[in-house]
Amino acid sequence: MELISVIVPCLNEQEALPYFYKEIGMVAEDFKKKNVEMEFIFIDDGSTDATLETIKTYAKEDARVHYVSFSRNFGKESAIYAGLEAAKGDYAVLMDADLQDPPALLMEMYTAITQEGYDSVATRRVTRKGEPPIRSLFARIFYKLMNKISDIDLVDGARDYRLMKRVMVDAILSMSEYNRFTKGIFGWVGFKTKWIEYENTERVAGETKWSFWKLFKYSLEGIIGFSTMPLMLASWLGVFMCLFAVVAIIFVIVRQLLFGGSAFGWPSMVCIIAMFSGIQLFCIGILGQYLSKTYLESKKRPIYIAKEKK
Ligand code: UDP
Ligand code: MG
Repeated sequence: MELISVIVPCLNEQEALPYFYKEIGMVAEDFKKKNVEMEFIFIDDGSTDATLETIKTYAKEDARVHYVSFSRNFGKESAIYAGLEAAKGDYAVLMDADLQDPPALLMEMYTAITQEGYDSVATRRVTRKGEPPIRSLFARIFYKLMNKISDIDLVDGARDYRLMKRVMVDAILSMSEYNRFTKGIFGWVGFKTKWIEYENTERVAGETKWSFWKLFKYSLEGIIGFSTMPLMLASWLGVFMCLFAVVAIIFVIVRQLLFGGSAFGWPSMVCIIAMFSGIQLFCIGILGQYLSKTYLESKKRPIYIAKEKK
């Protein structure tokens, strides 16, 4: 019998969990008819509400339910890693607890792997209905930019909802970096992936855990984690400014020779100094971003700390 591990990162999902558990239970019945077992791995990402208690009541009665509870909030990326680590299945699927990743798609995803020869089936939403327009705009810019400056392929609207074979799970686990940008990691490991599209659905209960600021920081994580283009930009900016300075020097010398002594022009001097120091600080800032990531990476801290598990 084959086994699918369903991995569910949960941060304060006490309202949504009962809906999710019921829905995934029904899908599990369908799979059973095809001789496929399921296990559910809930990752409690430092919830402060009754999420863990809810999961524990499921675990008591249902042998298929497992959980890992973090000592604090480590973020969804860490939760995904913990879930993949705990998964024993021949396949693993990542799903949000809020039913924004429709469990009904699972069967279609499974057949794509078993019958069409794919290694993984990923999903993307084609609409961003119910999302603030400014957030959609930034998201679109981010995906455009990422595809230009990094060598991984990022699909606009891609969700983390993805079913994959064991080989791909192992590949992802082998990337034990501390700064985890899962969407980039999926792209980086490769494998033959089928994309399924669906309309965005709103979360069943509770509220989103992602503020605009959190998303913004997450996008920087993606850029710094998977592209060295900003470093290159700093160098090119430097080269460009040097050329500009050479031209300016020639201009000043020629003017001096042709028209004689001149003491005017200090306001423009101030502007130029301000601009150049700004550019220098900007470039040092880029270096600093990479350095800080390297610094954290070199500490080799664990990706998460589990308080209890079953
Ligand atoms: N989540 C998590 N840790 C976090 C933030 C979110 O485990 O720090 C989980 C959350 O419980 C949910 C999933 O990640 O199951 C997606 O979060 P959410 O639905 O809030 O994001 P959105 O769908 O609005 O992008
Ligand atoms: Mg959601």
